[in-house]
Amino acid sequence: MKITTEMTRSAYAAAKDVYERITKLGDALDHLESDFGMNRGTANDYIYGFNKMMSGERYKRTFNSEATDYYFNNIYMDYGLCALRNALQAATAHVEYYEGLGRGNLNSIRSLIAEYQSLIFTEQSIYPDDLDEPEVLLEGHKKRVFVNSYERNPRARAKCVEHYGTTCSVCEMNFGEVYGELGQGFIHVHHLLPVSQLGKEYEVDPVLDLRPVCPNCHAMLHRRNPPLSISELKEMKKGIRPR
Ligand SMILES: [Zn+2]
Ligand SMILES: [Zn+2]
Repeated sequence: MKITTEMTRSAYAAAKDVYERITKLGDALDHLESDFGMNRGTANDYIYGFNKMMSGERYKRTFNSEATDYYFNNIYMDYGLCALRNALQAATAHVEYYEGLGRGNLNSIRSLIAEYQSLIFTEQSIYPDDLDEPEVLLEGHKKRVFVNSYERNPRARAKCVEHYGTTCSVCEMNFGEVYGELGQGFIHVHHLLPVSQLGKEYEVDPVLDLRPVCPNCHAMLHRRNPPLSISELKEMKKGIRPR
């Protein structure tokens, strides 16, 4: 059967809910079957595959490349770099398994894996501290606190930087100006809206909702939860405390 984009998105969401023990497997399968017309076996493969990606283990049933791309991207945004690394490991093992069966090759999946591997390399150089933080806080697989998933969306970040450039919105530091070629293009991106107030349908607007900030100012913005606003931090920096 043809797996539509809508099916992929719903299967990912359902797999995540099962993984986080928000939904039971049987209920998730019922939902994918009756609300999205997915074949129950396929729905099960998509949920099982997600679990294997999260644990870095080989899965046996192939997803199409659109679904694989969607899973990689969202695992990265929802769970961070270590989780993405696991997913790539699982997918690599899958490709080797599948190709070993002699039924053809999975070149499109291979090139996706390579693309995300280079993304890991880039992201590590932007958020080096990110790797040291625990990915999972015991119960419930909580997300990390510092860099939220909208700030880790590589596409949204690229658009934000394209619009605002790479100068810090708080202190106006520019790494290229200070460190020359080494610093060229380096900047964090901060998400302005409190994550707790965003609805399920929220999609980040890279120009309205994101701003480039240097890692120092970024850390200071997140010293409060919900984070300070850019103008509040600017005021503090000048030595004028708000109110
Ligand atoms: Zn700054
Ligand atoms: Zn931030």
